[in-house]
Order: sequence, then structure tokens, then C-alpha cells
Amino acid sequence: MSGFEHIKVSELDQATLDEGGCGHSATAVFHAAPGKACVAYTYEDLILMPGHIAFPVHEVNLESHLTKKIILKAPFVSSPMDTVTEQTMAINMALQGGIGIIHSNMSDDEQASQVYAVKKYKNGFINDPVCLSVNDTVGDVVRIKKTLGYSGIPITEDGKLGSKLVGFVSARDIDFVDDSTKKLSDVMTTSLTTGSEGCSLSEANEILQRSKKGKLPIVDANGNLVSLIARTDLHKARDFPNASRDHANKQLLVGASIGTRPADKDRARKLVEAGVDVIVIDSSQGDSIYQLDMVQHLKATYPELQVIGGNVVTCGQALHLIEAGVDGLRVGMGIGSICTTQEVCAVGRAQGSAVYHVAKFARKFGIPIVADGGIQSTGHITKALACGASCVMMGSMLAGTEEAPGDYFFQDGVRLKKYRGMGSIEAMSKGSDKRYVWGDDDIQVKVAQGVSGSVADKGSLRRYIPYLCQGVRHGLQDAGVNSLDMAWERLYNGKLRFEIRSPAAQKEGGVHSLHNYSKRLY
Ligand code: 5GP
Repeated sequence: MSGFEHIKVSELDQATLDEGGCGHSATAVFHAAPGKACVAYTYEDLILMPGHIAFPVHEVNLESHLTKKIILKAPFVSSPMDTVTEQTMAINMALQGGIGIIHSNMSDDEQASQVYAVKKYKNGFINDPVCLSVNDTVGDVVRIKKTLGYSGIPITEDGKLGSKLVGFVSARDIDFVDDSTKKLSDVMTTSLTTGSEGCSLSEANEILQRSKKGKLPIVDANGNLVSLIARTDLHKARDFPNASRDHANKQLLVGASIGTRPADKDRARKLVEAGVDVIVIDSSQGDSIYQLDMVQHLKATYPELQVIGGNVVTCGQALHLIEAGVDGLRVGMGIGSICTTQEVCAVGRAQGSAVYHVAKFARKFGIPIVADGGIQSTGHITKALACGASCVMMGSMLAGTEEAPGDYFFQDGVRLKKYRGMGSIEAMSKGSDKRYVWGDDDIQVKVAQGVSGSVADKGSLRRYIPYLCQGVRHGLQDAGVNSLDMAWERLYNGKLRFEIRSPAAQKEGGVHSLHNYSKRLY
């Protein structure tokens, strides 16, 4: 053919391939030429070049470090925000192989009891059943049935969990009782079938099947009620082979956030006593004398505790926290979906660049980083990991799930949940201002660094996290890597290739040219 060259494939050199548009190494993208300023990139600015696929998608391994000692099967962390992570989110994140960080915009006792609830959680067991006492009435049972939908209620000596189980009331016991003031001592069943604390789900299942009852109270050696199992829940209970568990007791892993005030040392002690695995020191600018002091205190007092410091976006900030002894770093400043820090304070960094530079620096000291904020899609997660993050922390992505705190509401026909920045005036008035103010307890004017809004319903984490995992596996497979270790090896040896997208390319990379469309995630 005229006008074409006819070289052999075996004669091809790398320069010809590069010329053909194989993208650029991370060094070329993120490092400026000597004496030149470098543009900072966001996830949206970047795109990964496809690699060679030599393995099926299910072989892509997402296992990754959260801290020096904690490894997760799914590299996802739910943010310590009061519209994102409380105990239900933390339990379900851990069941799915990630981890939840319980926020600190509540009393220290409350936060510690939520941590305790996650540590004590056993799949299929109800750890906080509604209980009544013998002096409560049939009317109380009817009210609970109406408001909460439960009809089987354990009766304990003082009407609380943890005291002696003395009876059980089910719908059958009160069906024909007209007197709503009748005491439960007169109607409850006292010949009880119980399970013993520590029994497995399958042992409990067997007892339930034999007894033909709907509920099985679980008691300790002294006959005190510790939990309850419902036959209906057993049908739903599944195994979670990827669950994040500690080595010692096989309990779910959980994190909690604290601030850097003196009172937070007391909070940390209560969290450690409750069994917390990792503490995240929650500051939007982590390079402060207050945080360094807190890291040193935690590591000296609880050497086994894993401590994540942050937030940082530069190697200088990271260095101070690494010197102080952190086991992990949280990276991101002013890039969260609800955040106004860059607008209000003019300080921060584009997240793609922040993640790349801090991850590259911190790995020299064996410290993994969590890319915190700004994640809008599975593609962003893949980019964060490809830029060197070991895990990603998400707020807006998870705030619309069933497991996030708060109720759904409708607006313009859309099912929504509330989501607010911890630096919004609303959240700060409940106490979260400590994340944004350092060393000045007497502050007169609160300057908001976040907004308050809502996010769309995302359904349950039980479907959403597997979707996120599979999306990221597809991304890594397309890039030709079957694990994060392999991605990072190529990131640092220049074989993982990136390109920077023009604004038009970014537009082209999204849905376009349609009159209308519907977007289902999975
Ligand atoms: P998202 O995943 O919604 O983009 O971002 C969540 C992250 O934003 C959090 O993990 C936290 O680091 C950060 N964040 C939470 N609340 C605020 C806020 O009010 N202001 C700022 N600047 N950042 C926030």
C-alpha cells in the first residue's frame, strides 16, 4: 500500500509505541519539569490507559492495608460524619470487608457504646432487643407492636437487656386479652427455650427448629439475657466470608474518630476500653502541634492501637505525622462533596495530585494512605487506588444507603437522605467544630467550612458494596493489573499509564447526546 510504512512488529521500539499515544507515566503527569510549575489534577482530569488483560475479572484481588497492621478485603472506609457512620453502618461496612469510622459528634459514652455494639455483633443475633419487665402491661406490648412491629418480647427482671430473663410474651399470649392494663407477669410464658451465650448461628438454628418457636432468647451462665434470635432473620442471615475481623476474637473491626482537645484523651480511653481497633484523629488540617501531641499520647499509652492521622495533602505535613508515629494517613483537603474549605480558606489541594504525592512519600516509611473525599463513582475509586491510595474514604457515596443514620424523605418525587458537612453550621452547633478550630476554645464567630444538603437513596450496603467492588475490579482488569500491589508496582516503574483529559474529553467520557436517559447503577 502506498504511503504506509512496512516495519516488522519485532522491530518496534518503545519510543515508537509511546509516540503512538500510550499515555504517560505518573512521574510525567504529576511532576513538573525542573523550574516549571505543575498543574494539580483531580480524578476527573485523569484517565487510565488500558493494559493487557490476562486474567478473569474475579481474579482481581482488592485486598489492601488500611494501616500498618489492618488489612481489608474491600478497600472502603465510611467517613466519620454524623450523617454517615454510626453502629449500623460500621457493622455492615465490616461485614462487607471494609470498615466504618464512628463519628464523634456525640458524647464519649455514646460513641464507646456504639463501638462496643459493633465488637459484640454476631451476624443473625439481635444484640439490642426491646425488653419489658413483669410490671409492664399488655398495652405496652400492643404499643411496641404498633410502632416497631415486634410481637415477641423477652421479659427481664428490670425490663432491660443484661438482666435475668424471667419470661417471654408473644402475640399468642395476648391475642384474647381485652384488659390492656393487665400486668405481663399474668400473661407471659415462663417455660422457656433458650440458647447459651457463645453458641453459633447454626446451633441456635437447630434449637429454634426443634422448639418450633419464632424467637430464641440467648442467655449467659447466670440466666441474664444477652441477645435474641428471630426465625425470620435466620432465613436472611448469610455468611460474610470477606468480613473484616480482628485476629484475637474474630470480632468485626471498627474505627472511631476523636478530636485533638485534652478531653479527647479521655474519649480515646473509653473507645479503647470498648474495643476500638483504629482511631482516626479528625482534623481538616492535621499538621498541628495539637495533633502531634495526640498521636504521641495514643501511641505511648496504647501501643497496640492503630492510629490514623490527618488530614494532610503535602509530604511536609505527612512527615510530621509519620515522625509522631501514625500507622496510616488520611489524605484530602477541601475536596469533599459538602466542603467549602478551599472557597473559604483558600487552602487545600486537588485530590489526584494530593493522593499521588503523599502516597508515594508515605510508602517509603511503610505507611498506607486513605484517599478521603471527592469520590463520585467506581471510576474515581479506581483512579484513587491507581494513584497510590491503599483505601478510599467516602461520605456522599454512602450517606444515601439504608445503613446511614437518619430517615428517608421525599422531595420532588425523589427518595432522599440528609447529608451534611461536619463543618456546616448545623453540625458544628452540635459539637463538630473541633474538627475545624485548633487551640481556641473561646471562639466567637463560627466560620462554616461545609454545607448541609441531601443525597439520593442508594439502597442497602449489602448490594451497594459488592457493586463498588465489582466496578473497581473491572477498572483494574481493564488497566491490565490483577491486584493493588501490581498496580503500584507499575505506578512507580512507569508502566501504568495515564492521560490528562481536556474539558471536552471529560464531557465526552460521560453520557452525552441523548434526549433523555435513565441511569441504573446495578
Ligand atoms: P465526600 O465523600 O462526601 O466527597 O467527602 C467526605 C469527606 O469530606 C469526609 O471524610 C471529610 O474528610 C470531609 N468533610 C466532611 N465534612 C466536611 C466539611 O464540612 N467541610 C470540609 N472541608 N470537609 C468535610
